[in-house]
Amino acid sequence: MQNFISEQNLNTLLDKLIAAGKRVVAPRLTAGTVLYEPLQKAEQMVHDELPRRSAKETFFPVCEDIMSYEKEGQQVRLTDIDPNSFPETILVGVRPCDAAAVPVLDAVFSWDYRDEFFLKRRDKTTIIGLACTTADDACFCTALGLSPADPKGSDLFLTPVEGGGYTCETFTEKGEQFIASHGSFFSGQSDAKTLPLAQPQTDKFDLKKVKAWLDEHFEDPAWDSIATRCVGCGACAFVCPACHCFDIVDEGTEKKGKRRKSWDACGFWKFTHHASGHNPRDQQPKRYRNRIMHKFKYYDDKFGQTLCTGCGRCIRICPVGIDIAAIVEEISKK
Ligand code: SF4
Ligand code: SF4
Repeated sequence: MQNFISEQNLNTLLDKLIAAGKRVVAPRLTAGTVLYEPLQKAEQMVHDELPRRSAKETFFPVCEDIMSYEKEGQQVRLTDIDPNSFPETILVGVRPCDAAAVPVLDAVFSWDYRDEFFLKRRDKTTIIGLACTTADDACFCTALGLSPADPKGSDLFLTPVEGGGYTCETFTEKGEQFIASHGSFFSGQSDAKTLPLAQPQTDKFDLKKVKAWLDEHFEDPAWDSIATRCVGCGACAFVCPACHCFDIVDEGTEKKGKRRKSWDACGFWKFTHHASGHNPRDQQPKRYRNRIMHKFKYYDDKFGQTLCTGCGRCIRICPVGIDIAAIVEEISKK
């Protein structure tokens, strides 16, 4: 179902939700960088810039406590964090490449184990996507079959129109409920033309060819040249909307402390370091190979899709200029 919402009504609605105690998260300038962060006022929302990090931390924080412990004599007291205490959240202004990664994460966090920390936040969040009208040289969502107006992963989706405001389409029951609860801010279908959408320049990859090459070339001299520059900083995984590895560690003393879950990255040397001292990925090219294999082969083998939405963040942030789109293109031509 399509509706229209003016800019003023969108701001008034978001302010009303904030005043009612809802957590409203949107792209926002934070210490000089645009990030998905909770808003205090609707006017803080940045409408025209892709946030530096993705929206995944709304469901999967960089670091979170999952339990605390305390020892008194021979008694150990464990205190769980209750996922039911997580707040209801409206995640708004989400770029299509970020929203499309959410179902990718859903599959991982509900596969062999249901991660209630992720799933409860997910359940309590309504995602309002926003079409892109600008792209830069690193954007390549279209090469992966997505688009700057792809609603995948969004409950509602906004597309800016000429003269201001947005068309708003709903794609899930949650989206329908949101419109039903806040109907006075929306009007019926608008005749206004949508603004021209962004046009990422990368040609479509032949993902079947990429997968076929990866299936047969776990060992190949090409990996040395593809990955030789990677310094294993992990930045690409941390900015990625689809990367989801984490570590769990106990922090504190023998008597008192917390169990914490923190982002991890397969680019780190210690990621596969066994207690025995053996490390099956003992050289950086092996670790970068895993990044490509996981995104374009292993995840596809398991869940039937790629673990990349073409947001281009890893290209923008890599300190040594590694370009995953160029690598995948190179592989697709082999
Ligand atoms: S950002 Fe670049 S150097 Fe750092 S781990 Fe990723 S590919 Fe390697
Ligand atoms: S691998 Fe790179 S381009 Fe693909 S989704 Fe992750 S950060 Fe974006």
